[in-house]
Parts: sequence; structure tokens; C-alpha cells
Amino acid sequence: MFFKFIYIFVFEKFEKIEMVDLSQYSTMKVGGKARFMLFPKNTDELTEIFDICKVMDMKTFVLGNGSNVLFDDNGFDGAIVSLKKFDSFSVDGEDVWVGAGVNLFALNILLKEHELSGLEWSFGIPASLGGFLFINGGCFGHEIGDFVLEVVVLDDNRARTIGKHDCGFAYRSSALQKYVILGAKLHLKHEKRAIIQQNMNFYLKKKRESQPCDLPSLGSVFKVVKSNPEVHPAKLIDKLGLKGVKIGKAEVSTKHAGFIVNTGGATSKDILSLIELLEEKLREIGVFVEREIVVLKEDDKWTSGKRDLWR
Ligand SMILES: Cc1cc2nc3c(=O)[nH]c(=O)nc-3n(C[C@H](O)[C@H](O)[C@H](O)COP(=O)(O)OP(=O)(O)OC[C@H]3O[C@@H](n4cnc5c(N)ncnc54)[C@H](O)[C@@H]3O)c2cc1C
Repeated sequence: MFFKFIYIFVFEKFEKIEMVDLSQYSTMKVGGKARFMLFPKNTDELTEIFDICKVMDMKTFVLGNGSNVLFDDNGFDGAIVSLKKFDSFSVDGEDVWVGAGVNLFALNILLKEHELSGLEWSFGIPASLGGFLFINGGCFGHEIGDFVLEVVVLDDNRARTIGKHDCGFAYRSSALQKYVILGAKLHLKHEKRAIIQQNMNFYLKKKRESQPCDLPSLGSVFKVVKSNPEVHPAKLIDKLGLKGVKIGKAEVSTKHAGFIVNTGGATSKDILSLIELLEEKLREIGVFVEREIVVLKEDDKWTSGKRDLWR
């Protein structure tokens, strides 16, 4: 009770939700409660939050749009730091500055308004720019890293700029994973608005045709096997006849075997059990897959610069 009071007092000045229902903040719609969700408005507030959490020995987890995070049914015993309010956007010719919290849907609309083309392939992916940079997200042969000029991060609680060549962009990975990403400067190309809209419609249609967009999911569960990029987990899962396999309310999507969907009321236990089953079946045919999604357990600990603790 005493500690609860202290926490409320130290976080008083920040926008926050106490005992937040995490299922509302993941596109999988799964998760228990976290003690706090904090919404810093700027870098000063963010660094202050990390300082407080360090002193109070409170666990923290940085959240983008929650489209790749599986929260625990038991919640998270700490503070979730949402970067939603890092939503700045400005244009300088064909270069744009985008805050980490801007989601790709809004970003594509803004870019179209400014007649800037390049990211239309990402239209429809429910990610924030920060989360997308974190994993160097991509599809249809494109990756976000290809458009980056520089990224601003929080390194040991201090902001610093990292040039593109030091970002370590690789297939679904980046060297940015040890930092908090604050925003990035991207380079695009001028194009007519109507063409940009056409491209956006094209890619959105392609996604809707091939992915289970009507059910909660986290996108592809597994990465393509690094040692053999031809080995596509989704195709193998399909070949093994595992589409539609269910544990509890979690199901291997019948539309795209790389996705696990929540058919209504799935628990994190259902989803993890299904992931483990797929991993076992793939192992049986000699394929060792790496997870693309992030699983945040109740007791996982993350502090700025030490994030490999739960990955
Ligand atoms: C329907 C659907 C379709 C998808 N399609 C694709 C696709 O085509 N291509 C693709 O690559 N992915 C796809 N995804 C997966 C997902 O959108 C990406 O992994 C995305 O990069 C996650 O971004 P996010 O903002 O939601 O991150 P979150 O899920 O919030 O977080 C993911 C990880 O990034 C970290 N993180 C987030 N923001 C920051 C930050 N600012 N600084 C430091 N760390 C941060 C978190 O701590 C966490 O470890 C899809 C997901 C869904 C649900």
C-alpha cells in the first residue's frame, strides 16, 4: 500500500494509466495488467521516467504500437513506457523527420499529402515507426532501413544521432535494439499524389488478400531461416498440414500459415503452446526457426541499454 502510494506520487506529473489492461495495447488482444503505462511527451519526460524507474528498481518496457508483442496473461510487474506521444513530423524537401510513435498508417497519409513516395508498401502494417526500425520491418522486397538517413536514440538515457551505416540494418534486425528509438530522418522521392494513392491501394489489397486482417494477430510469428532464405516457415507449416490447428482459442491462420490468430478469448498460454508445437514440428523435419515476435513475461526486466535480457 505504501509503495503504491509512492509510485503514484513519483509519476504524478506524467500522463499515465494505472493497472492498465495490456490486452488493449497489443494487436493480439491478449495480456493481463501492468502496474503503470506512462505516456512521456518528450525526451526530458522520457529520461526522467527512466531515472525514476532505476531509482525505484521498477521494471520498464518500451512499447510502440504493440503489433509484435505478446503480453503475459499475468500482466507485467512494472511500467510500460508508450512512445505514442513521440508523434512529430516535418518535411524538408525529400527528407522527413518522423517521431518514433507515428504509426505507419498515419505516416503514409502524411507522406501522400506532401507528395512523397517510397513507403507505400508499408501501408496497412499496424506498426509505429520506432517498432518498425527496431526490427527493420519490411515486406514485398522492401525494408524500412533502406529509407533511413539517421536515427535519434536514447543511449544510456542521453539522446544521440546514429547515421544509417551504424544502424546495423539486416533482415528483421538492427543494431538499434539496445536503445530507445526516438525518431528518424527518412529520404523519399517526390511523386504525384494520385500515383501514391494507387500504390497504397495496391499494397493494401495484396495484404488483405493474403493475410488474416480480420482477426487479432502479431503478423508473422517466425523469421525466414537465415542460413537458407528459401526456407519459408509459413510454407513449411502449410506443407505439414498445420493450417487451422488450434490450441484453446489460438489458431494457425487458415489464410496465412505464418500467422497465429486469436479466434476470441485466447490466452498467452494458448499462443505460446501453439508456437512451441509449430517449433517442434519444424524441428522434426530439421528446420530450426527463430521467433519474430517479442514475448514479454510477467517478470522480465528491461532497462535502457540492457534490453537483451528478455529476447
Ligand atoms: C496484421 C499484421 C501485419 C504485419 N505485417 C508485417 C509486415 O509486413 N512486415 C513486418 O516487418 N512486420 C509486420 N508485422 C509485425 C509488426 O508490425 C512489426 O514487427 C513492427 O515492427 C512492430 O512495431 P510496433 O510499433 O507495433 O512495435 P511493438 O510491438 O510495440 O514492439 C516490438 C518491439 O520493439 C520494441 N520497440 C518498439 N518501439 C520502440 C522504440 N521506439 N524504441 C525501442 N524499442 C522499441 C519493443 O520494446 C518490442 O521489443 C505485422 C503485424 C501485424 C499484426
